[in-house]
Amino acid sequence: MYDIIIIGAGVNGACIARNLSKYQLNVLVIEKNGDVGDGTSCANSAIIHAGYDPHPGTLKAELNVLGNQMYDELCKDLDVEFERNGALTIATNEEEMQGLYHLLENAKANNVKVELIDKEKLFELEPHVTKKAIGALYAPTSGIINPFELCVALMENAMDNGVQLNLNEKVIEVISENNTYLVKTDCGEYKCKMVINCAGLFGDEIQNFVCDEKVEILPRKGEYYLLDHFVDGFVKHTLFSVPSSKGKGVLVSPTTSGDYLVGPSSDFIEDKEDISTNKDVLDNVLKEAYRLVDNVPMQHLIREFAGIRAYHKSNDFIINEPTAGFINVIGMQSPGLSSAPAVALKVENMIMKNLELKIRDNYIKTRRPLYRLKNKSIEERDKLIKENPLLGRIICRCEQISEGEIVDAIHRNCGARTIKGVKKRVRPGYGKCQGGYCQTLVLKILARELNKDMKDINFKNKGSYILCEESKGEKNVKL
Ligand SMILES: Cc1cc2nc3c(=O)[nH]c(=O)nc-3n(C[C@H](O)[C@H](O)[C@H](O)COP(=O)(O)OP(=O)(O)OC[C@H]3O[C@@H](n4cnc5c(N)ncnc54)[C@H](O)[C@@H]3O)c2cc1C
Repeated sequence: MYDIIIIGAGVNGACIARNLSKYQLNVLVIEKNGDVGDGTSCANSAIIHAGYDPHPGTLKAELNVLGNQMYDELCKDLDVEFERNGALTIATNEEEMQGLYHLLENAKANNVKVELIDKEKLFELEPHVTKKAIGALYAPTSGIINPFELCVALMENAMDNGVQLNLNEKVIEVISENNTYLVKTDCGEYKCKMVINCAGLFGDEIQNFVCDEKVEILPRKGEYYLLDHFVDGFVKHTLFSVPSSKGKGVLVSPTTSGDYLVGPSSDFIEDKEDISTNKDVLDNVLKEAYRLVDNVPMQHLIREFAGIRAYHKSNDFIINEPTAGFINVIGMQSPGLSSAPAVALKVENMIMKNLELKIRDNYIKTRRPLYRLKNKSIEERDKLIKENPLLGRIICRCEQISEGEIVDAIHRNCGARTIKGVKKRVRPGYGKCQGGYCQTLVLKILARELNKDMKDINFKNKGSYILCEESKGEKNVKL
């Protein structure tokens, strides 16, 4: 019997798991994918929004503003890349200026620090902004984060404190029985006192298992371009268009790894798992981006991707307990990433009304930092390489990632088990060659460290093998 089962290991499930791990509770997280944070939580704009956009009085407004404030401490404790680079919402005509005044009012009501700036100040802050700009709203507390690293760090810390994570396991039914719940998956059955529904796009299915009142979550896709970090200093702040009924519109932003994001689009789709990209949609994204900057250095494009928002008709987050012991955290569109720490706090307080929460004696609040060799001086690197020679062997040439960093990413709690898991934790495969050179080496390292045959290593989810059969009879070629 578990105290709590969390369904879904996106940023919300992981953040709640970490918060609960400080208590003497038996917590299980069940995730259908082969890794944490592999759904919407890793395919978004990666912005920790300041909180001037959501309508005052909504859950989005309340939790975005509080969540934003919690990020400095959270990222310091968990060694997650986060930078308050500030945001500029840009107006190019009178109508858009009116939009900025409206945002200014929102900001006041939500208690968020912002400033209206004229075009001279704007060009001083961002020389590459469109010459058509006539003013902007500056929000200094807006930040950028590595959202996948955040999910891994949250779950790693939760697991360091005793939380159990089951990957590659899909919840297929939840049954309420005698003040407890039976959670059925495609691998087994578990009993628990409480269920937290953090299943993102599929949160409606989970709620509809146990509640008479049915909800519907609609998928709304956002497509992006990702530009390489060779374009140094293209933009320093996150540049936003003035929001419309479709959302925050297209942005141009640096990422924590020095790349640049251009996007997203916003279109309702049928299939909740369709993360394909479309030329016409992306052409339009580019057109919109040209309303923010005069030049988009498309010669540095490295890839396109899409993420899917979990839209509910209320256009707000749904965090409720529709039946005793069953908590929903669904309809988590943007600013769901920014709000996650505050959402977890809210859920923790809701759980307190159901269960007695006693602090665990040996709770560890921090995560062991990553090596991040690339950011270190030659002297620091030398010292580390003497202690661990694998750190001196570069595997990914584009991103300068060593074997030691990959091995570390595999052997931590919530460690990498797949090629994509390694890529997203320590970046081999993210650079210009997109893994063309290092993917085979990563495959071999994974097989060696996990004591598996290379044929059994997946690219991403269960069954996504890279190698089919031995062609030359030599097993696990030595590195
Ligand atoms: C295009 C786009 C841009 C965005 N930009 C931003 C931004 O800049 N800033 C911001 O604050 N927010 C942003 N967001 C919103 C943010 O990404 C989401 O609010 C957040 O990631 C939602 O996290 P989650 O944990 O609720 O859901 P998810 O990340 O979707 O996690 C749900 C998990 O549940 C799992 N699951 C589902 N069904 C089952 C089942 N039956 N059994 C087991 N597991 C299951 C899924 O596999 C998934 O891993 C953006 C979203 C999109 C799509």
